[in-house]
Amino acid sequence: MGLIVQKYGGTSVATVERIQAVAQRILATVEQGQSVVVVVSAMGQTTDTLLELARAVSPNPPARELDMLLSTGEQVSIALVALALTALGQPAISLTGTQIGIITEAEYGRARILHIPTDRIHQELEQGKVVVVAGFQGISSSRTLEITTLGRGGSDTSAVALAAALGADRCEIYTDVPGILTTDPRVVPAAQVLPQVTCEEMLELASLGAKVLHPRAVEIARNFGVPVVVRSSWTDEPGTRLLTPERRTIPQRDLEVSRWVDGVELDDRQAKVALCNVPDQPGMAAQLFGALAAAEINVDLIIQSIQAGETNDIAFTVQQSDLAKTERLVRDLMPHWGEAVTCTVSAAMAKVSIVGAGMVGRPGVAAAMFGALGEVGINIDLISTSEIKVSCLVALAQATQAVQVLSSRFKVPVLPPPTATGGLMPVRGAALDSQQARLAIQQVPDRPGSAACLFLALAQARVSVDMIIQSERVTWVQGQPTRDIAFTVHQDDVELARTALETALAKLACDTLTIDREIAKVSVVGSGMVRQPGVAARMFASLGQAGINIQMIATSEIKISCLVPRNLGKQALQVIHQGFGLDQPLGEEPDH
Ligand code: ASP
Ligand code: MG
Repeated sequence: MGLIVQKYGGTSVATVERIQAVAQRILATVEQGQSVVVVVSAMGQTTDTLLELARAVSPNPPARELDMLLSTGEQVSIALVALALTALGQPAISLTGTQIGIITEAEYGRARILHIPTDRIHQELEQGKVVVVAGFQGISSSRTLEITTLGRGGSDTSAVALAAALGADRCEIYTDVPGILTTDPRVVPAAQVLPQVTCEEMLELASLGAKVLHPRAVEIARNFGVPVVVRSSWTDEPGTRLLTPERRTIPQRDLEVSRWVDGVELDDRQAKVALCNVPDQPGMAAQLFGALAAAEINVDLIIQSIQAGETNDIAFTVQQSDLAKTERLVRDLMPHWGEAVTCTVSAAMAKVSIVGAGMVGRPGVAAAMFGALGEVGINIDLISTSEIKVSCLVALAQATQAVQVLSSRFKVPVLPPPTATGGLMPVRGAALDSQQARLAIQQVPDRPGSAACLFLALAQARVSVDMIIQSERVTWVQGQPTRDIAFTVHQDDVELARTALETALAKLACDTLTIDREIAKVSVVGSGMVRQPGVAARMFASLGQAGINIQMIATSEIKISCLVPRNLGKQALQVIHQGFGLDQPLGEEPDH
């Protein structure tokens, strides 16, 4: 007999009728001969309502009392689901986080799970009961037993953690959408359900998928190889299967590791090609990378920083073995781009990256990396960031030192570079973020430690930085080389960022900070794009054909992001989604 963990979200248990429907679905699973552990969220908008109540009586409610209050929402729904099951003749028992002894950190409002004892649950299951567990809550391990909550959306995390602890055959997340979609259906009605998605893709698509599946739940599934499906509570459609690695046993403690970084990766065969003074017109990136794709050259990092006047600089990396061919192609194209264009190549470069799901939403990880490199005098040539990775291009001669410094600073191992995984689709999803603003700092001294100085200041102010891009173009100021650094933050954080940067800017003697709120970020994500030529070219071509000018580009192995004018953001998302054929029904792909 198998064991299944089923999680039902707030909308799935919002009314009496829905609770009864959920009970029927649970019963149907039991009748198939499975043992079932159910995790539920609070009914409908209960958590929001409770928060409003708290704020009504206290302008600044203490976190302890908030957790005491919010945890009641789930206590109501577990009892009701257990009652509905009993009414159908199915023995069931509801249990709170405290009763099970779900041990968390003593951090109100955002506790991480440390340990889940499973004896009580197993005992109840052996008596033929369905066990209904309150999601989102636990109990702190301090001597005074304190009720904690895991953070908004945390019952997904409870469910996957329970499935890991129980060694369940799978965890089914039931929600009000049919699964993980290729993009936001409000912007692109043709968005399709993804039959499968990798954990890394889910994390990179956080802005898209976080509401459907909490990133921490994905992290647990990835760390312990828990099979997870996300599907609709209302239909029998199969939904989306999360592609997870081999099963691993959970540790006795620290189930949710609080590590920011999992490892350091090195690719020591990179070569850089840098173009300066490329005309800032739609279609340029498409032309360049289209030519490279046609020659089957796989481009790795692509970086286009903020424009200067009428021109851009675009830098990219290829494998050293492709450099000669790449350079020939580029030099053939250059005459079409006017006389000012220059091209420089650096044959001996290495890409050093830190990776980790734990960096999602945590300011300061990139800054810590830049700081560690700066301290030992390693100059960063290119920077590229995504949700779960920060990559720096450095001189090959310094690569070993860079890897050592990072692995000891973050106390993590050196991991092999990623390989293409998860079937054949190069791109699985596309996302639009219209909530960002771009900050650009001109003439930052090009020496070790400059980037660290800026991003440490931002991290101290707890500003999350998204895209970070350093220009290729060098401007000489009083005999010293300088470069421009641009990055994006959430629009709400602009003023905070501006204030945070004041001292750092004075220290670096750069005085121009420009802020642009009229931008939007469009991204495509797919594990299948690793070492597959032409994916970036296709994205740029879709934008170019629609006449949309690309203002900045940044890539990681499985993600390509472009900044475009804000008013064209939705159109950009539509053309990209269509360009990758994501608006057609998607079939199940063979596992690699
Ligand atoms: N009820 C909690 C919330 O609304 C937890 C959850 O639903 O996942 O955030
Ligand atoms: Mg949710």
